[in-house]
This record gives sequence, structure tokens and C-alpha cells, in this order.
Amino acid sequence: MRLSYSQYRTFLQCPRLYHYQATKVPPPVKPSSYFALYGILIEAFFKKYTNVYTKQGVTLSNDQIREILKSLWGYVLEKNYVDWSDPWVNETADQILENVYNDVLLNMNTFSFWKEAQSEVSFEVLLKKSQDVLSCRMDFIWRKPDGTVEILDGKGTNKLDKNVDIEQLLFYALMYLLRNKRIPDKLGFLYYKYHLIKYIDFNMDTVMAFKDKLALVKKAIAKTEVFEPVVGLSKHCKWCAYRFGCDAYNDKKDANAQKKQSLITEKYDGGVISL
Ligand code: SF4
Repeated sequence: MRLSYSQYRTFLQCPRLYHYQATKVPPPVKPSSYFALYGILIEAFFKKYTNVYTKQGVTLSNDQIREILKSLWGYVLEKNYVDWSDPWVNETADQILENVYNDVLLNMNTFSFWKEAQSEVSFEVLLKKSQDVLSCRMDFIWRKPDGTVEILDGKGTNKLDKNVDIEQLLFYALMYLLRNKRIPDKLGFLYYKYHLIKYIDFNMDTVMAFKDKLALVKKAIAKTEVFEPVVGLSKHCKWCAYRFGCDAYNDKKDANAQKKQSLITEKYDGGVISL
């Protein structure tokens, strides 16, 4: 079995969704990548900046940064389907590009790790006993001259601390441990829109506790014969590309709508309600 962090997380949220994704079932409608665009563009830029320009000692002017972003943006828009008529779309492509440009400058000026870091580092680890393969792609690994190591996960969110998934960083720490026989010294989330890094508390015990949980989930996936849907209407289902063809999702939505309807139509006889 191959398992990435996102597959692990998806299985815990909804085994049916995990199964669809793992077996590459095409979704009934093409999912729009609108909310992912900011993150895709800023990470594409920082990958190039960190891995290429800083290593070659190139100093970029603001105009050059803008030109690089424009050319990456064309590529990102070509590769990602976006329905610009969706009701939640509140920024144009030009506005997103401008926001990324401003945030790139702020982050470049705030942090100093670009030259020593590597961006989008892919790891694969073969577990000898089970022959399972764990895989991940870390946004930044910063190996400092003093021998310490930081792993950072970039976040394009507007909301600090909301939906922070600490286990994602523990997964990276575990992968690093399996490859390097030591855990990293620091783990943190880099919030591009706030040009801020928030570090988490962890140690070998927390990483080992996560390893045990991961082993249980791996076993559960291997043993599962029927991947049942688990509905979270305002959570993972909200953006699930399979929701239009998902009976469990539609049944729950209908049941909720009926519940609301019966509350609205409840008869009131005009008497004073005693509270
Ligand atoms: S809509 Fe919800 S329940 Fe259905 S597959 Fe997607 S995540 Fe699972």
C-alpha cells in the first residue's frame, strides 16, 4: 500500500472519498480549483525562488518578480479548471495575482531561510515489515549551518489557527525520522498572508504516538472491504468533488432541509409563549 498524509487524513474523514481517490474514480463534475489558486501560485514562485534563484545568487528586482509571477500564473490557470461564475468567487484572476505579488514581497523580506532551504522536497519511505510506502512532499526543509533542521508547511489561508492540522507536521517529522534517524528540531506552519511562522510543540514521544495511530489507520485501510461514506455537510463534503453523485450526502442534505422546513411551518396560534 502507498499512503500519503492526505490519503491518511481523507480516510479518517470519509473512507468512501479515500476509496474514490485511491482508485482514481472520475468525479461526476469537474471540481473548481478557485480556492487553491493563491496557494498554487505562491508555492510555485517560492519553489523557483528557493531552489533556483537563491542558489544561483540571483537578486530579483520587483519587476522581475512580477514577470516571473505572471508567467507562472498563465501556466497555473491553464492547468487548473476554475469556474469563475461560482457564487463564492470574490476575487478576479488579476486580484489574486496582485495579492500573491504583495505577499511574495512581504515574505521574502520577512524571512531569511530561502537561501539555505529546499522547497517542495519529496520523500518516499519503504517500510520493510509491511512493504508499505509512505510518501510526502514538504513545502520547505531548512537545514541550518548549525546542524539544526526546520520543516515548514506553507498555508494560504486567511484564517490563522483555523483548521490547523498538527498531524500533518507530525507525519513530516516521522518521515524525516525514518530517513535520517532523527526528528527535525522545529516544525511550523508558514502563513503566507500574515508572513508569520507558527511553530508547534512536539518531541519524540508525540511523533511515536502519531506513528502508532498511523499504523492503526494503515491496518484499517488494508482490512476495509466496503468503504462507507461518512457525511460532514459543512466539513469535508462541502468541497468533495463526488458530492453530486453521493447518496449519503444527498440523503443527509434532504433530511436537514426537511427538518428546517418543518421548523418554519410549525403552527403558531397567536398565544403568548412562556419562556
Ligand atoms: S460527499 Fe461526503 S460522504 Fe460523500 S463521498 Fe464525498 S466526502 Fe464522502
